[in-house]
Amino acid sequence: MSAGLNLAQTQAVHHIGGPSLVLAGAGSGKTRVITHKIAYLIEKGLQPGRIAAITFTNKAAAEMRERARGLIGKAAREVVICTFHALGVRMVREDGQVLGLKPNFSILDADDVLSILKECGGTTDSALARQWQWTISRWKNEGLNAEQALQAAADEAEKVAAVVMQRYQERLTAYQSVDFDDLVGLPLALLARHPQVREKWQARFGHVLVDEYQDTNATQYELLKLLVGEKGHFTAVGDDDQSIYGWRGATLDNLKKLPIDYPALRIIKLEQNYRSTSAILRAANHVIGPNPKLFPKTLFSELGEGEPVRVIDCDSEEHEAERVVARLQGLRASSNPPPEWRDFAILYRANHQAKPLEKALRKAQIPYKVSGGTSFFDRSEIKDLCVWFRLWSNEDDDPAFLRAVAAPRRGIGHQTLAQLGDFATMMRSSLFGALFNPMLETRLSARALASLQEFGRQVNDLQYRARHALGREAARQFLQDWLQDIGFENYLLDHSDTAAQATARWGNVQEFCDWMAQRAGGDADPSEGAGGLASTPKSLLEVAQTIALLSTLTEQEKEQNVVTLSTLHAAKGLEWPHVVLAGVNEGVLPFQQGEDSPPDQARLEEERRLMYVGITRAQRTLAVTWARRRKKGRDWVAAKPSRFIEEMHLSADTAREDPRAKLRALREEFAKRAQTTNAADAP
Ligand code: ATP
Ligand code: MG
Repeated sequence: MSAGLNLAQTQAVHHIGGPSLVLAGAGSGKTRVITHKIAYLIEKGLQPGRIAAITFTNKAAAEMRERARGLIGKAAREVVICTFHALGVRMVREDGQVLGLKPNFSILDADDVLSILKECGGTTDSALARQWQWTISRWKNEGLNAEQALQAAADEAEKVAAVVMQRYQERLTAYQSVDFDDLVGLPLALLARHPQVREKWQARFGHVLVDEYQDTNATQYELLKLLVGEKGHFTAVGDDDQSIYGWRGATLDNLKKLPIDYPALRIIKLEQNYRSTSAILRAANHVIGPNPKLFPKTLFSELGEGEPVRVIDCDSEEHEAERVVARLQGLRASSNPPPEWRDFAILYRANHQAKPLEKALRKAQIPYKVSGGTSFFDRSEIKDLCVWFRLWSNEDDDPAFLRAVAAPRRGIGHQTLAQLGDFATMMRSSLFGALFNPMLETRLSARALASLQEFGRQVNDLQYRARHALGREAARQFLQDWLQDIGFENYLLDHSDTAAQATARWGNVQEFCDWMAQRAGGDADPSEGAGGLASTPKSLLEVAQTIALLSTLTEQEKEQNVVTLSTLHAAKGLEWPHVVLAGVNEGVLPFQQGEDSPPDQARLEEERRLMYVGITRAQRTLAVTWARRRKKGRDWVAAKPSRFIEEMHLSADTAREDPRAKLRALREEFAKRAQTTNAADAP
């Protein structure tokens, strides 16, 4: 056995000659297997740069890199540790030319996509455009192009969506832009259609590891398949009971297909949970019990019975928030040593549930952060800056052009932009491409033309300087000069409600620039998997090309000693000593759209898995709260506890913390542990 691994984990780590699947419940050390396996592969002579570890989020990638650093030191920098999307960016930047994409293509965010869809569909209806966005995304994740989507369209609405998709794709090509789904779809197309590219990438990686495998979608499955080739040197780890992204196209078929596509697949199960107490684990096992089993598994813990799981019923959401805060304070007061704020997480089903909790935490002056909510990069002042970066890397990015030209405003009106747009369409060029076309003179007033061309020259000039701003200091200097040039501080002052708000936003801008400069200095970039480049200084332009992929300033979060507020979805893979699941009401979790539309069987199973994910984040204590009344619009409506609370099978005694019940439970637990130990010892 290797240090810090049990027998089954060691087997998983040592199996390197072919495909393996580690299938196991929450907290059983699946992610730990991946980090240890990276170290083992290197020990066995594989170059760090030939190992790819794929995670579900950038944050998880940053954390895995950190853990890998602890095991193997500097070599961790060279291992490609990133998300499917970040790997996709790399592949398409290197080889996208064969698909007609320039290496400097832009990555559009959800907002850009929405506005392009509105244009393509000739509508201002956001709800409709969002519907298209979902449908098109689903098709892309199933690997369908616009033509195939039209064939597959189930009704009139979907037919319209397929036609919009066709136009949308044409726009993306014209803008030299891709959306998030393309970051998996395009690399797949690359490998599928171009054998020489496929061979290159198959030779590049000696082993590919995938965490949270249960949440991969159909295109990701195909991409992985082509990436590892027939030899199938990969390790997938996952838990079918934690599949919670079905709504985004993830499919458990990927788990079922694996043994069929790879007859040599070695399946390894882990049964010991190292995270949670028995009381917590028992509740989790009860909840997931009713779901049909893809692969039967059992999970036990040797961390002792621990504190009983508490259910806290409250009058209203406000009351609930107060009780949650009181619980955190109580745990701090009664434990020795007291837990740090970072040891607490409050998890909930939907973003909007954070609000009352935030208010109560503020009132009690408890520091917290909201993760999985609005990200730093979604703030308008940061977006205003990011579009400039996009424009420097790809002048043909029209959505970026339109935003950059308007913030800060430079006296170029809508009318002028509309005329420029018409002209560009006629010329079949991007907006930027049209700027210096001599025929534009006939279309615009001399003044409008002059301001537009002035803007164009400014972009070109900045682009040149960004390309040559190499390393941290040069980047820092350049960014400050640039903010000055475009008068960004004054712009924020003019566009904020209060001076304090303007100051805060300017602070964000500075924070962002520091962070960019650090990246240019060569600090590891969690988005892209360093692959040997991490420690070399980059030009600001290179850094700019990757930011669209990032959603948080990861390294900053880590340092903070604050309570985490998070959606259940964003809490996947993480753990905290003390967890509160808040708002566990029927209709909230399981989520129900409207009065008369109860979730169907499949949805209910997914919601149950979500509850399971929530419970299993807790290491030492767990409380579940619900409110008797919830606000619906302006009215108060009576609310019920979630069925999942009942499904946890907490005995009324333990939930109320009766000392006799505690003793009884302890005795039961000892008996059970004696049994499991015997079972574990058996050959
Ligand atoms: P999840 O399903 O939630 O992603 P997981 O299976 O990936 O969980 P890990 O996060 O790898 O589980 O491990 C859970 C906790 O147990 C971690 O704190 C980890 O360090 C610890 N752990 C795992 N295996 C061992 C072991 N053999 N010895 C000691 N601690 C372990
Ligand atoms: Mg994990």
